[in-house]
Amino acid sequence: MTTHLMSNQYHGSCQCGAVTFSIFGEIKAITHCHCSMCRKSHSAVYATYAATLKDNFSLKGEEHLTAFSSSPGVIRRFCKHCGASVQWLDSGKYSHEWVTFSLPLLDTPFTPSKQKHIYINDKLVWLAVCDEHKKYPKGRG
Ligand SMILES: [Zn+2]
Ligand SMILES: [Zn+2]
Repeated sequence: MTTHLMSNQYHGSCQCGAVTFSIFGEIKAITHCHCSMCRKSHSAVYATYAATLKDNFSLKGEEHLTAFSSSPGVIRRFCKHCGASVQWLDSGKYSHEWVTFSLPLLDTPFTPSKQKHIYINDKLVWLAVCDEHKKYPKGRG
C-alpha cells in the first residue's frame, strides 16, 4: 500500500489530443472486459478500463466527445476526430461517485497493483489469456 495517495497525479489523452483528462488520486478497478460490446467499441481483443472517484477526475475537450449507447443504460464516449474510446458510463449504483475511463489512454506511467478479466466466457476463441489475474465469467459486482 502506498501512503502518498494524495500526491498521485495522472494524465491521459485521446489519439489526436483533442480530449485530455487528469486524475488526482488513486486509480482502481483495472478491468479487462472481453464482452462483445467492448471488443466492437475498441476494435480490440478486449477493452481495459479503470475507475477513479468523480471528484478526482477532470476532463478537457468535452466538446470533442461524442457518445454511443451500446446497451440500455450504458454510454460509451469517444473522440469524434480520432475515434479513441475515452469513457464508459452507466446508470448503476456507483455512477454518481465513480468515473470509468480507458486505461490505455494514460500518458503517465502507471503500474496496476491488481487487474482482472471480466466476461472471459465471451473472449475470442483464438486469444490466449495466460496471465495470473482473476477471471470472471461475466461482469463483476
Ligand atoms: Zn481524439
Ligand atoms: Zn465489456
